Amino acid sequence: METLTLEHETNPWEAQAARFEFAAKKLNLDRGIWKVLSQPSREIIVHFPVAMDDGTVEVFTGYRVQHSVARGPGKGGIRYAPDVSLDEVRALASWMTWKCAVVNIPFGGAKGGVICDPRKLSQTELERITRRYTAELIEFLGPEKDVPAPDMGTDEQTMAWIMDTYSMHMRQTVNAVVTGKPVNLGGSRGRTAATGRGLSVVCDEALKTLSMPVAGCRVIVQGFGNVGSNAARLLAEKGYTIIGISEYDGGLFNPDGIDIPALIEHKKNTRTITGFVGAKAVDKGELLTYPCEILLPAATENVITSRNAAQLRCKILCEGANGPTTPVADEILADKKIFVVPDILANAGGVTTSYFEWVQDRMGYFWTEAEVNQRLDHIMTESFRDVITYAQNHSVNNRIAAYMLAIDRVAYTTRQRGIYA
Ligand code: NAD
Repeated sequence: METLTLEHETNPWEAQAARFEFAAKKLNLDRGIWKVLSQPSREIIVHFPVAMDDGTVEVFTGYRVQHSVARGPGKGGIRYAPDVSLDEVRALASWMTWKCAVVNIPFGGAKGGVICDPRKLSQTELERITRRYTAELIEFLGPEKDVPAPDMGTDEQTMAWIMDTYSMHMRQTVNAVVTGKPVNLGGSRGRTAATGRGLSVVCDEALKTLSMPVAGCRVIVQGFGNVGSNAARLLAEKGYTIIGISEYDGGLFNPDGIDIPALIEHKKNTRTITGFVGAKAVDKGELLTYPCEILLPAATENVITSRNAAQLRCKILCEGANGPTTPVADEILADKKIFVVPDILANAGGVTTSYFEWVQDRMGYFWTEAEVNQRLDHIMTESFRDVITYAQNHSVNNRIAAYMLAIDRVAYTTRQRGIYA
């Protein structure tokens, strides 16, 4: 990590590699397994044509990276965004490998992305993009191969189109090919809010670890999409005070607490958080540096960097987004004694409930929401305690502990399976 130069600071793949190397060194990982785990096992790039609503043809670029399938099928979301890159998808795929291992579920890590701006596309264009992207990847997907899920810019409708396209090619309904589907298509109850719910569980655990009360615990959330809005809603229900919310087009602040259900309703009606009457409009970047007990980034990568880490005034950083903090910022946060709940632990509630969805689809037997939530709470609580205990036993920070725990588990399986020649 010490050797990472600033120019690499915001490259997510470099950030992942820096943490991997640091943790692998601490584990004394043997050189062969190190080489295996430091590269993705498969990277697919597709360029595919789509007929647009105005009659023109556009060519889109999509990626799917399978980092490791040692512990089970590849698992990971599909992101639709204008700035998706191969390095970003690579990093996200490897984080999925480590995340599934941290919560000890039988999946490897994968991730996909399509370069497009979903805000500028119609539903019919999004459907054609999704179906063609799925068709391009058809031989690489499957319940036993690689199982996508939603991520930024995609949702349960996107998953329904993928499931339908895959099923048409297979000549049978295969609902276990994706997770995060609508419940009536084989989706799991509780999946939509699962990442936010898992975040609320690790926030509870972090407060207990630091002997801090929930009453008076101020939270600032960056990003009010699936993860941010559900985390804010569930934390508010538990008695936390959500004093700040930011979105790509502005920030909101209310020291007495923002009415989250009202803000969710406002965003549903207007597609923005701006103009909400229950809070003061503030600068979205500055909001991250306001005093609070918990800062919860839930938008995108590289939002806590060498440029703002020193200004943070939170006690706990709970990472809802993947890769919100750069390795350089990690060192600044450590100096400031900020307690970090790292992404590969904090936001693992989504993939954990995806695992439950995959299990239910394959059984053809569906659980109640209470059963799903109870199993999720149990896995998140146990995983939090595993990571914290590992950090204490090995005198490393929480992030490196999570990486070490995960790498050790994946390395063990890889070694046991052996190298096929
Ligand atoms: P989403 O698209 O539903 O929401 C993201 C929100 O962040 C959007 O409303 C967007 O406008 C906002 N945003 C973008 N840039 C911003 C910025 N600079 N400042 C403030 N807001 C900004 O996506 P999501 O599913 O909620 O995912 C958010 C993050 O959580 C991503 O990093 C994703 O990889 C991660 N994640 C998601 C899940 C899941 O289950 N959806 C699981 C684990 C991790």
